[in-house]
Amino acid sequence: MLLPEILLSELQGVKGFNETAFLAAHDQSAPVSVRLNPAKDIGLFAAKEKVAWCGNGVYLNERPVFTLDPSYHAGAYYVQEASSMFLAHMLGGILTGKEGLRVLDLCAAPGGKSTLIASLLDRESLLISNEVIRTRASILDENMTRWGHMNTWVTSNDPRDLGRLHGYFDIIIVDAPCSGSGLWRKDPRALDEWSEANVQMCGERQQRILTDVWPSLKQGGVLIYATCSYSPQEDEDVLDWLAGAYDVAPLSITLEEEWGIVAVSTAKGMTGYRFFPDKVRGEGFFIAAVQKNEEAEGLRPERFKTGHDKKIQQQAGYLLRDGDAVFIQTDKESYSALLRQHEPDLQILKRAVYMRKTGLKLGMPAAKEWLPEHEVALSIDASQALPFIDADREQALKFLKREEMGIAGLPKGWQIVKHKGLGLGWIKSLGNRSNNYLPKQWRIRMEIE
Ligand code: SAM
Repeated sequence: MLLPEILLSELQGVKGFNETAFLAAHDQSAPVSVRLNPAKDIGLFAAKEKVAWCGNGVYLNERPVFTLDPSYHAGAYYVQEASSMFLAHMLGGILTGKEGLRVLDLCAAPGGKSTLIASLLDRESLLISNEVIRTRASILDENMTRWGHMNTWVTSNDPRDLGRLHGYFDIIIVDAPCSGSGLWRKDPRALDEWSEANVQMCGERQQRILTDVWPSLKQGGVLIYATCSYSPQEDEDVLDWLAGAYDVAPLSITLEEEWGIVAVSTAKGMTGYRFFPDKVRGEGFFIAAVQKNEEAEGLRPERFKTGHDKKIQQQAGYLLRDGDAVFIQTDKESYSALLRQHEPDLQILKRAVYMRKTGLKLGMPAAKEWLPEHEVALSIDASQALPFIDADREQALKFLKREEMGIAGLPKGWQIVKHKGLGLGWIKSLGNRSNNYLPKQWRIRMEIE
């Protein structure tokens, strides 16, 4: 792979950069890795080698066709390159002993970091996964729905809108849009789009994004900044710009030497972590954490009348495992369940941002029954007593293609289609045939042999 000379010469001064080894690594293929969903543990990939800095991450020997694995669709794992999984190690230290946090993943689509964060937070915490680009927000929504946590909500807003939530978040993750040099091994076409001008434009945009969202971080709160770019203009320089513009303290993370991650100090005393593909088993990545020292007054919810609908709770409560949710109408067509203690957050958030997914969508009442939403089938909060059918791989793939599964003698009514114990979606059996309620946009479009 022929890499831009300008970048190579810029990296000469960067700690840990070894041009010969770096170039050689770019002639090798990227390792394949996935991160398991601990809330949907069905013993997959148990014998595989673990990613050293993430207990749920494993390397695979080859890249299977994930689309043809029903467990992937059920949210049993997420395909993610290994360096990014370092966020688990970083958050591990930051989250210790803390509960009930408000966390923002500002640039969240398609959901790699958000699904990782969701697995680390306690149930009382709330994760807001935001993606400004609407089409990408729908992919994020799908992936978060697959992951199955009721306390992960999706918004689709400009960072400036989130910045209006003064002092609200304990942790903000900015996995910034960048020039993408760290992912060239996975996507060599990105090389054609790389230019110095683009690096500069990305650096300026990163500063703008940080400026916009900064007011919403609490005093003492933590900002995690990451890119998949090697360029110092998007990494160390952005950290130094942040340290110049605001009152921040660097946060250091303990590393094991054999991981091959390079800790770098910036001119203004910030600390960042660089991932070079010749040193780690993963792709190019940069990550840093800083603490906000400045005062930031926190928002308080105004007095509000609960939207909890007891009648709906009576009708739809059977869908859920626990009884700690409120049942509220989130749009014309659906009611949602959210943890009682998160209702004030909805009041605060909806004043500033567009809520795309709030809690768990339950569906709506019809004349004689409850019409369940797709999300319930994938939720880790769904009642285990709901009727289900166990589909083998072939049947599950037919369901995921929205075809007739060909299972005879099903009892009439709503059933969750499960594969290896994990829900994929709903069917309504009419006795001799069944209707498939998998949303059209979730359908597998690939030809299956
Ligand atoms: N965090 C994601 C993950 O782990 O799957 C990857 C995020 S990707 C590096 C950066 C994201 O920022 C993209 O989804 C992109 O659409 C979004 N983005 C682009 N321009 C933006 C802007 N001006 N402000 C905020 N986000 C932006």
